[in-house]
Amino acid sequence: MHEMSIVQALVEQCEKIAEQNKANKINRVDVKIGILSGIEAHFLESCFDMFKEGTICDGAKLNMQIQKVVVLCKECNEQSELSEHYFICPKCKSENLEVKDGEDMMLMQVEME
Ligand SMILES: [Zn+2]
Repeated sequence: MHEMSIVQALVEQCEKIAEQNKANKINRVDVKIGILSGIEAHFLESCFDMFKEGTICDGAKLNMQIQKVVVLCKECNEQSELSEHYFICPKCKSENLEVKDGEDMMLMQVEME
């Protein structure tokens, strides 16, 4: 299960952050999910709710933000946000693009006590 291993890594990351900040409890976990990551937000949330019990994240809410695809055009150097799966530079119509964001899931912020 892809999502389960992601959640496990996420909770481990939260535990490290809590330890560094001497926090006893995490109330909210903000993540950014790239639409190209293949992660299903609702499935990720239910995995998180299952896995969090007994960890530092017990009782925490997973706050998910969907990140669109951001590309840098190698022809005109313009950075743009794309509408889904349409890989053409909006400015110069080039297909020579580098994906800058929207591919991964990232832990953005943790609200602690
Ligand atoms: Zn371009």
